[in-house]
Amino acid sequence: MNENLMQSVTVIKGIGQETAETLAEMKISTVLDLLEYFPYRFEDYRLKDLAEVAHEEKVTVEGKVHSEPSLVYYGKKKSRLTLRLLVGKYLIQVVFFNQPYLKSKLEINQTITVTGKWDQHRQMITGNELQIGENQKKNDFEPVYLLKGKLSMKGIRKFIQLAFHQFGHLIEETLPEPLLKKYRLYHRRDALRAMHFPRNQEDVKQARRRFVYEEFLLFQLKMQALRKFEREHSPGLTQKYNLIQVKAFIQSLPFPLTNAQKRVVNEILADLKSPFRMNRLLQGDVGSGKTVVAAIGLYASISAGFQGALMVPTEILAEQHAASLKALLEPFDVTCELLTSSVKGKKRREILQQLEQGEIDLLIGTHALIQDEVVFSKLGFVITDEQHRFGVEQRRILREKGESPDVLFMTATPIPRTLAITVFGEMDVSIIDEMPAGRKTIETYWAKQEMLDRVLAFMEKELRKGRQGYVICPLIEESEKLDVQNVIDVYSMLTTYFQNRFKVGLMHGRLSAEEKEAVMREFSNNAVQVLVSTTVVEVGVNVPNATIMVIYDAERFGLSQLHQLRGRVGRGSEQSFCILLANPKSENGKERMQIMTETNDGFVLSEKDLELRGPGDFFGKKQSGVPEFKVADMVHDYRALETARSDAVWLIQSKEFWHAAEFQPLRIRLEASGVLEGEKLD
Ligand code: ADP
Ligand code: MG
Repeated sequence: MNENLMQSVTVIKGIGQETAETLAEMKISTVLDLLEYFPYRFEDYRLKDLAEVAHEEKVTVEGKVHSEPSLVYYGKKKSRLTLRLLVGKYLIQVVFFNQPYLKSKLEINQTITVTGKWDQHRQMITGNELQIGENQKKNDFEPVYLLKGKLSMKGIRKFIQLAFHQFGHLIEETLPEPLLKKYRLYHRRDALRAMHFPRNQEDVKQARRRFVYEEFLLFQLKMQALRKFEREHSPGLTQKYNLIQVKAFIQSLPFPLTNAQKRVVNEILADLKSPFRMNRLLQGDVGSGKTVVAAIGLYASISAGFQGALMVPTEILAEQHAASLKALLEPFDVTCELLTSSVKGKKRREILQQLEQGEIDLLIGTHALIQDEVVFSKLGFVITDEQHRFGVEQRRILREKGESPDVLFMTATPIPRTLAITVFGEMDVSIIDEMPAGRKTIETYWAKQEMLDRVLAFMEKELRKGRQGYVICPLIEESEKLDVQNVIDVYSMLTTYFQNRFKVGLMHGRLSAEEKEAVMREFSNNAVQVLVSTTVVEVGVNVPNATIMVIYDAERFGLSQLHQLRGRVGRGSEQSFCILLANPKSENGKERMQIMTETNDGFVLSEKDLELRGPGDFFGKKQSGVPEFKVADMVHDYRALETARSDAVWLIQSKEFWHAAEFQPLRIRLEASGVLEGEKLD
């Protein structure tokens, strides 16, 4: 990196201490930062045919003043200037607010150019810029930057211009020539020039294309380097499992494995046996049978003389998994224990001691498993279920437990490929893309809230057949801001409605662990027929007799979450139903409800979800490890992402990348990101 570019922005004429402070808030401290401060959009002054302009879109039109402009004052400093303008064959209204001085510049029949917001219904432009005469900016494409403090748009444009004049020639290429040629990318200097001073739209497009690729490539290089270094610097365990025992265990299952399960089991076994450390993500839709796969993997590791751990996000899920794994594994002489934060006192001490002495083979629990006090004697294999709820940091802590256990992350939220290769770019991926035979698809309906009576009547009919149902509400308590049914209201309404016929249970995150467990147990035993709950039941819970899922305010949930919730039913042999109660206002909301009724494929839904909600919201939380890119957009630029990914894979494996001069700028950037020392990724 050229040192002159690393100088403080104050070397630019006109940038004093105060401006420098404002710029610092915008994360601009060096000249290079300033040059790389990209506009977030461009002002487009090209003329368009009004028939093609959408409502509320910004537009520039050229026309003849058709009526005497009239000026009205109202309030102290408020005014409205109105005129009619003939634009081609359209006669439209133009309004300027609070710019009374414009009146004296305007005359009838004069040609003017107005830029402003188009109101299609009223055939009116609310102007914010006036040019007397023809459009002088016909080809203009002005960058618009995000600003802070007192900095003006003119100001930042000027500073960037000065910086470019003074330092532009020092900008160095980061990408090697063959890649630039291959993809016909702008050189870095040209691309920066085009970002700030574009000649036309194509210029911007090309500049963007270059930076998108650069950003993705650097990111993917980081991921691939991380993968390579983790492999080389932390050799894993070679787990010599007993194949005969593993086969016998698989034979003992009440069903044959699906082909997808077999494939994934083989991938996991191969990782266990290899000297490398497993770092694998297992994706499979709700009900695709991940738990059995996990059990087989854990059993294999245990048969090789190691201990296993299964970590899940909620206590309920931990308890359910513990119960089903005990049933499967104890006949094979595997000692299983459950450890959650509600396991306390003597019992807890006992478990911890037995674990340390190697008397427990498999520990199942919540986050409690990654606390310091939990010490294994010979941890070989760690599995986390519903792992997208664990952040990057927790994934790392987990991998650092024990000597260097193999690690498998399981998720039932199918992750769109673009996200999978960014958020989990350093991992291997296995996919179960096949459902066990004989599953009935869940019938999904979308009903307006007004149809609640009919929905309840339908529920009643199913309950009379001996089935059970869930009713999900988004929030626990009344919120004034959001018009959301609260779970407690719904609970009391349904208790009254089903009085003397069916028992209704209530479940939400504010209940204590014991209360939750008690309710869940009642529901599992069919002592409770209707469970009213917040989204705490979202993951994993398994009650095969439940066939109805009613979701209140369904438009407030993302598609992936709705799909998760829907997956709580359809687990038995009976036909199941999902009813979405929703009165979405936006088109986007309507579209989401519609899609839910049309597909049961979690992968299709996840791609759609990403498209409709964007990557930041996909996992529901900000700290989910979704990287932020300056220019690139994972959804729209996914092709570039795929390309950068495969380029990064071969680059990291090639000799040239680590030695040839043309790759040096990329290597320097990679080093700067800290990956090579095994430091944290941000
Ligand atoms: P997931 O965790 O992927 O949502 P589970 O592992 O809970 O799914 O499996 C859902 C149900 O399907 C369980 O009752 C399980 O016993 C059953 N199951 C798993 N694999 C098969 C299979 N190959 N054939 C039939 N049923 C299966
Ligand atoms: Mg599961």
